[in-house]
Amino acid sequence: CLAVCPTGALTEVDQVDKVWKALNDPNQFVVVQTAPAVRVALGEEFGLESGTVVTGKMVASLRRLGFDRVFDTDFAADLTIMEEASELVHRIKHGGRLPLLTSCCPAWVKFFEHQFPDLLDIPSTCKSPHQMLGSLTKSYYAKTLGIDPKSITVVSVMPCVAKKYEAARPELAQSADTADVDIVITTRELARMIREASIHFDHLKDQEFDYPLGESTGAAVIFGTTGGVLEAALRTAYEMLTGETLEKVEFEALRGMNGIKEAVIPIAGHDYRIAVIHGLGNARSVLEKIRAGESTYDVIEIMACPGGCIGGGGQPYHHGNMEILKHRAAAIYREDRAKPLRKSHENLAIVALYKDYLGDPYGERAHQLLHTTYTPRRKI
Ligand code: SF4
Repeated sequence: CLAVCPTGALTEVDQVDKVWKALNDPNQFVVVQTAPAVRVALGEEFGLESGTVVTGKMVASLRRLGFDRVFDTDFAADLTIMEEASELVHRIKHGGRLPLLTSCCPAWVKFFEHQFPDLLDIPSTCKSPHQMLGSLTKSYYAKTLGIDPKSITVVSVMPCVAKKYEAARPELAQSADTADVDIVITTRELARMIREASIHFDHLKDQEFDYPLGESTGAAVIFGTTGGVLEAALRTAYEMLTGETLEKVEFEALRGMNGIKEAVIPIAGHDYRIAVIHGLGNARSVLEKIRAGESTYDVIEIMACPGGCIGGGGQPYHHGNMEILKHRAAAIYREDRAKPLRKSHENLAIVALYKDYLGDPYGERAHQLLHTTYTPRRKI
């Protein structure tokens, strides 16, 4: 089946058959991960109200489908924050170029490479969270289990059509024959697999993600909605820059459905100018100001889809109904509030990962596994 991405970026190439084939291959260890926005929309495919959180049933259904491990892209969202906040602090302390632009939306990255090839030094070099999780699965986790990375298949369940293209980017491969992520399916494709397997989704008992790449904080789940990446980054960057505890973790000015949101956030005696943008038309106008030297922002989040990933092209169809997007966003913020830990640097599995394997955030091994490069797609 072919479905059209609402941003016009790509069409959806069906990869469900590839997932069934991997699951039926006795020589493959098949790992699945799910993005933050999937858990607040998947239930709509099974007749539940928009805004119903189905995290536990989703995990249970993935185990029934036969995946060997069920990991959470939210773990890697916490990791992204560690790396991106460290990169921001590094640029601030060493006079690096600002604004820093977030880099977890592949439709936005592709747009940027085509339209603004002269500004490729300003996006963060962080891979997107599902690529980070794929990279760690085939390095850190493969080593932990003593498995050859080539016998691991990583499947990402994403709200996004553009992630299918992203997973195939050569800039993100670990080597010529080892990709971070092997197959990407959308929320709708996962729903189809659950139906094809005759699983009664609404009767499933809740289950938990596997440890350690399934551990996450509230900061990670808000990646799924516009403003969430920067709110999560600020929760960590504030404590990195001040050495003090951030008491109020909600940054209300970054929330809501306005196409361009702005805020000035004072941290350690400096006013940081922040922008949150969704929709590529809005992004273009801000980037043209940066190109003209007229922007004073320090950091900008950009997402291609309306509302961010909750409104992604791989989600259950919402036909532009903003009420549905608002319900999904409210569910994301409920998940955040319900988490005992709400700052990425407090994720104990992340702390252990740096201590036992990665070394320093934004350090040498982190760069090898978790960062990427960009390619100008037209002549400057
Ligand atoms: Fe994909 Fe849209 Fe999210 Fe970008 S905003 S990562 S295109 S779902």
